[in-house]
Amino acid sequence: MPKYFIITFFLLASSLLIAQNNDVAKLTAALLAETPLEENLQELCDDIGGRVTGSKANEQSVEWALKQFEKAGVKAWKQAFDMPSLWLEKSTTATISGDIEFTPLVVSKFYSPAQSYKGKLLDAGTGTAEDFEKLGAAAKDAFVLVETDLCLDIGGLFTEYTNASKTEDFARKAGVKGIIFMASRPNGLLYRFVTKKVFDNKIPQLVMAREDAKRCLRSIRENKSLIIDATIDAEVGGKFTSHNVIAEIKGSEKPDEVIIIGSHLDSWALGTGANDNGCNVSMMIDIARQMQKLGIQPKRTIRFALWNGEEQGYFGSWAYTVKHAKELDKHKMAMSVDIGSGSIFGFFTNGREALFPILDELLKPVEAFGPYTHVDATIIGTDNFDFMLEGVPNLVANHRAGKFGGYGRNYHAASDTYDKVDLKSLKINSAIIAAVTLGYANSSDENINLIRHTKADIDALIKKQQLEFSMRMFNVWEPWSTGKRGRK
Ligand SMILES: [Zn+2]
Repeated sequence: MPKYFIITFFLLASSLLIAQNNDVAKLTAALLAETPLEENLQELCDDIGGRVTGSKANEQSVEWALKQFEKAGVKAWKQAFDMPSLWLEKSTTATISGDIEFTPLVVSKFYSPAQSYKGKLLDAGTGTAEDFEKLGAAAKDAFVLVETDLCLDIGGLFTEYTNASKTEDFARKAGVKGIIFMASRPNGLLYRFVTKKVFDNKIPQLVMAREDAKRCLRSIRENKSLIIDATIDAEVGGKFTSHNVIAEIKGSEKPDEVIIIGSHLDSWALGTGANDNGCNVSMMIDIARQMQKLGIQPKRTIRFALWNGEEQGYFGSWAYTVKHAKELDKHKMAMSVDIGSGSIFGFFTNGREALFPILDELLKPVEAFGPYTHVDATIIGTDNFDFMLEGVPNLVANHRAGKFGGYGRNYHAASDTYDKVDLKSLKINSAIIAAVTLGYANSSDENINLIRHTKADIDALIKKQQLEFSMRMFNVWEPWSTGKRGRK
């Protein structure tokens, strides 16, 4: 090659590289400056409110999100998918009678059958196998009250899910009429969980305000006899259609290769789904908006996904992987941002340690907000899951707990409202996510062509990271193990 050719080539290559780095710098600067991020989040939380999949508010949020992309000049569309059935709590009430009488505060776990119940209320300790052994035949047709630890952080949430999942199995085996879980957060705070069986659940399962549950337990432990009357009123129905909102900025060089980043639009409706996950929905919209405004053209296509039906078992992102099954070889990265607004300090790499150095490289433009530490753990509880089951490289952002009681304490609770969002770190997080996303879209083939996992690779990963228990806990083991879900 003649010398001047080589020089020209290097000049071209380096100017391209500088342009790309400039794009990341321009984009992060724009996101850190004043943007409609907070205003959008406030609209989503305060004007629309809690957005349970199948509710009117959820549909409003779909239209709202489409409008935001449209206003920003970003191409976006609705992607329809089926939800198995409808369950929207209208109210759950309970009274305690017998040796004491009062009205405790309660809420239903998702998909508790809507009807009225009456039964003896028994002390089931912390709901372990030994506790149920102690109760023996008495548990049959009774309501069991289960004591919980205080949940102060995300670790506490995992413990709560794990314990509740085990308790459910023991209670079902014992033939109970219903389960009452003591709320794990204090001061009358209530929150919604799904049961282990989700849509297959047949047993009423309630969360009772911590103080009320403790009052019941003290009384039972003094040998007082308690009866609970509970009424669950819910709007129930069959299969229905929900929608993801997908927006796209086409790649200039490799438009068929896709980097997809997403957050879920749906929430529970005790609060207004602010940290879970309105804040990151607003972030996705803001990143797309600023990219479009700056005229940034990534090499590969970037898709911004606002998933729906996440809380019931990531139905929207699952549907996406089914609909785009033939294109998944070309999906080079799927990222989920779903752990609130505390500062991001790294990523979960879901079985791919090879991503660590690549991420470190892509995070260089935002190193001022680091340091970053990555964890090669596998996240089951959000929208990266079906990409993982399809073998697509996938990331979940890892956050610090955040202000105002943090993510764990307000999780799915009446207190998950706009005022709990750490707006300052949300802005910084948007710059971090943008740097990684755009960096990925422009990255060298060597970085991007991480081989898609085969079915055997995925099986090995599930075994190595011992995911069966967690997958059963979220009712996603059966569809995977029977071939209904994930790579064939
Ligand atoms: Zn979430």
